This record gives sequence, C-alpha cells and structure tokens, in this order.
Amino acid sequence: MPIDATAPYDRDNVFARILRGEIPNNTVYEDEWALAFHDIAAQAPVHILVIPKGAYVSWDDFSAKASAEEIAGFVRAVGHVAREQGLVEPGHRLLVNIGQDGGQEIAHLHVHIFGGRPLGRMISPS
Ligand code: AMP
Repeated sequence: MPIDATAPYDRDNVFARILRGEIPNNTVYEDEWALAFHDIAAQAPVHILVIPKGAYVSWDDFSAKASAEEIAGFVRAVGHVAREQGLVEPGHRLLVNIGQDGGQEIAHLHVHIFGGRPLGRMISPS
C-alpha cells in the first residue's frame, strides 16, 4: 500500500532495518552516504535499489532537508553503481516513486536502477 510521503520518518521501515543490519540484503555497493542492494522482487534483469544512509522519507524530504554533502554523496553513489554494473553504454532507467500517486511503498527514499534489457515506454497507459 502506498505511503503518505508527508508523514514523519518511521524508524521501523524495512530499509531502516536493512541499514541497521536487522534484515539481510544482497549488497552491491556501500559507502559513507549510500547503500545499494538488489531488489527482492526484480522487475528487470538488473534491478537495484540505492538508499541514502540518512533518515529521509522521500525525494521531497531529502531534497528539502539533506545537506549538500549528503545529496552529492548519494547522487554520486547512484551514478557509481550504474557504471559499475556496466549500464551506461547499453543504457538504463532511474526511477523514484514518491507518495500515494507515485506508488511508493517503503517510507525511506530509494532510487530504483533498472537495466539489462530495453525498458520500453516510461509509463504504461492506465
Ligand atoms: P517502491 O514501490 O518504490 O516503494 O519500491 C519498493 C521496492 O522495495 C519494491 O520494488 C520491492 O520489491 C522492494 N523491496 C521490499 N522489501 C525489500 C527487501 N527486504 N529487500 C530488497 N528489496 C525490497
């Protein structure tokens, strides 16, 4: 069920628990600012989630409240993972769902990296 992106940060959300090591994950990259791991229900041959280490509900929350260092570190980590996965030359897609209409289900900012095949149109007709 989609979350309310304006709600306060829930410290028990799944990705907060992954960051605390309480839930296992299949890590592909980690640095001071970000953790990247395989999505548990991959929707493309490559489907990786990149999350900031800080407690931010959504892209909106992050872009409004994170420090310039956190933002730079996180954005660089997303680019680094895509390069490391060999996704630059064939191309790939970044996706961030935000709140109800965006279909965001986990209340900790995450960037989806999709790749490994042609990804088709941006949004399916509803
Ligand atoms: P969103 O709809 O943008 O909030 O996407 C949430 C994503 O998190 C979905 O693609 C889920 O498959 C993925 N997910 C949920 N729980 C886990 C988990 N424990 N480890 C990895 N990915 C997860």
